[in-house]
Amino acid sequence: MELSERQSRIVEIVKNTSPITGEQIAAKLDLTRATLRPDLTILTMAGVLEARPRVGYFYRDKHEPSPLLVYLRQLRVGDFKSVPAAIRPDISNYDAIVTMFTQNVGSLIVVSEDRELLGMISRKDLLKAALGKTDLQQVPVGVIMTRMPNIIMTTPDELVLDAARKLMQHQIDTLPVVEGFINEHGDERYEVVGRFTKTNVTKILVQIGTLGQ
Ligand code: ADP
Repeated sequence: MELSERQSRIVEIVKNTSPITGEQIAAKLDLTRATLRPDLTILTMAGVLEARPRVGYFYRDKHEPSPLLVYLRQLRVGDFKSVPAAIRPDISNYDAIVTMFTQNVGSLIVVSEDRELLGMISRKDLLKAALGKTDLQQVPVGVIMTRMPNIIMTTPDELVLDAARKLMQHQIDTLPVVEGFINEHGDERYEVVGRFTKTNVTKILVQIGTLGQ
């Protein structure tokens, strides 16, 4: 498991002094207990630390991740993706805005007639166009979209955690879910088969959190 710098420091502290309470770890790091809570929870769930109520944290030499984490780590995008909200590049920016409202999405995937991925257009792209001199009724989305090959994608067999990491790292809301194919010119192209969004990640969290309730 990759630890953040702060998580590594926590582990070092617990290795050197245990049991140690969350308050004591926080004091050593000059942070509040509340700030440390997410890191302590993750380290405990991952099996790196053991939390004993009213005693404190221990380091676990041979740590086994919790079954929940093992489960989380094998989830694949294909089982959680949504149907793609897609448009063609020749529709106007105005119609793209209307489509965002009717489909209740914040980004649209731009595809060709045969569902080949061409680009993405988000709320802010359209807001930017609206602030400028763009004639929203006349200019097609193909002109202002973010286009291939700059689109960050995922595939049905990618791990949910890896796809979620892409959403975070690139600060975007939506990944088109694609399957690669080779076109008649021998070039690699991508057919859109779904979308994977921050909302999908939130739903997974809620589903796991309420399992058995
Ligand atoms: P918004 O900024 O409207 O809330 P995003 O954060 O998803 O929506 O998009 C930010 C920018 O990144 C926009 O310019 C958009 O065109 C572009 N974008 C959106 N999704 C992707 C993607 N999967 N790959 C590359 N660029 C993207």
